[in-house]
Formats: sequence, C-alpha cells, structure tokens
Amino acid sequence: MDCPTCGKTRPRSFDLSDAIELYRCQACGLVYRGLAWTPGESVEHYEGYYAGRQTAFDPLTEKRYHEVLGQFERRVRPGRLLDVGCGLGHFLVVGEARGWQSVGLEVSASGVGLLERLKADRGLDFQIVTQPLLEADLQPGSFRAITMFEVIEHLSDPQLHLERIHNLLEPGGILYLTTPNFDSLSRLALGGGWRAMTPDHLCLFNPRALRASLRAAGFQPELLTSKNVDLPEILAKWRRGPSSGRSVETSAATQSCRNRVERSSWLRAVKATANVGLHLFGRGDTLEAMVLKDASAAA
Ligand SMILES: [Zn+2]
Repeated sequence: MDCPTCGKTRPRSFDLSDAIELYRCQACGLVYRGLAWTPGESVEHYEGYYAGRQTAFDPLTEKRYHEVLGQFERRVRPGRLLDVGCGLGHFLVVGEARGWQSVGLEVSASGVGLLERLKADRGLDFQIVTQPLLEADLQPGSFRAITMFEVIEHLSDPQLHLERIHNLLEPGGILYLTTPNFDSLSRLALGGGWRAMTPDHLCLFNPRALRASLRAAGFQPELLTSKNVDLPEILAKWRRGPSSGRSVETSAATQSCRNRVERSSWLRAVKATANVGLHLFGRGDTLEAMVLKDASAAA
C-alpha cells in the first residue's frame, strides 16, 4: 500500500477511531485510508451529496472569498478561474462579481442540479464541468487561478490531481487550497472525534506532507499556513469526558462562536494573535496553501 503522494511504501497503521482504518507514511507524514477510488466510484459516491442542503450564501464565507480573490489580484489580473469541487457555486459567484471568468468543476449530480438553478436564477455566466478533474477535457495552460476548498482530502490520488492542476495553469498562475491539518491542536485534543475524521476523507495532510506534495507537483511555495482551532468542541469534550463522540450541538456552537468572533473587534484581535501561534507551530485546524506555477514554466 504505497503512499498516494510520495509513493514510498512502509506505512504504519494506527488506531484513532474504531470505524476508520488509517495509515501514516513514514517518509512524508501523510495519513491515508489506503483506498483507491476510480473517478467513476467517486462520481457515484457523491451523487446525492448536496441533496437537501441549505443553499443560502453565508456572509462570512463570502467575505472570506473576497479576501482570497483579493490576494490573487495582488499578484495577477483577473482571468480564467477554475474551482475544483465547486459545490454550491458561491466562490464562482464572487469570482464573477470581481471580473474573473469562472469555471466550476463538480462531479456530484445533486450539486450540478443546484448550480444550474443558481445560474438560471441569477442570470450568471459561469461554466460547469461535470467530469472528474483527471478526465475532464480542459486545455493545458488555460487557467490563471485554480482553487480547491476542502476537496483534496476526498481524493485517493491527490498527487495526480496536483500534477493535472499544474498542467492546467498558465505560467505564473496560482493554486489555492484548504484542507484539514492532521497535526492540528483540535485533532490532538479530540482524536477520533475531530471534525475531519470522517469516512469520506481518504487522505489527511500535515504541513510537511502538503509542502512536499506541492513541491513534487512542480509548485513554488508562496504561502503555507495553518489556522483556527475548534475551541467549543474541545471544551465540550473536556466537560463530557474522553469517550464521547462529537455532538450536533457543538457543531452549531462552533458556528455561533465563529459569528460572535466576527462581530467583535477585540475577539477578532484575540483570534488573529492565536492564529499567529498556531501558524508558527503548524497546529491550526485548517491548512491553507497558495502556490505559484513558475512564470518561466512551459504552459
Ligand atoms: Zn508519503
């Protein structure tokens, strides 16, 4: 069972959750399930993923998307943008509003249905691609920016995806992605009850594994950081005792905590300071990477 990013063998299995078998690569640090899904199996698995989902735009997420695109625009002018695993399409909408020609790739049939409706309701122009990334008919060097928000952990072959993304970007183009951090404070505190410990997550990165994987795909590291901690869930676990699982109430509490922090300027300052520490020690809940394709690379 070779590591799906560095290709080395000799993984070590370990116990974190009774339900999910995991291996850790001794060479690069990637944690993975050891499952190999074909693109067809992924399409089938995620068919109904978005059925019955709340489709309203979250203003905090929208603000965050503007910040991400603002970071891109400090480096490049708006151009073609591909959001891989675009889900409900909110990032595409923000991209279009800022002058990006947005393309959304989504393999879930239920997601595509919602995207078609969003396009029609708002009279939007974005393009939808429904094939898996490794099979999609897309022109090499044709995108200025490619994004993957909480997607790479769902893939059984992340390295092949990063290589395809490198091929699809124009020279000087940007890849931005987020993914759960296996070495986070939250995971260390919560173990099998950590929010990212789900059967859908086929690989879990730490900062070292992600950096190595991006480099191997040909990217120049620009920014790799980790941020946030699931404080309400950790506090709830301490109150409940070690054996209990994650509760629905604390997921809601996590969201309400996030809203409260955003509304208060001093809580935002506390959060920013905490994020500096989490970044320094690589212990934040979410890994965030922004990397560039070499401007002198062949398209
Ligand atoms: Zn490895």
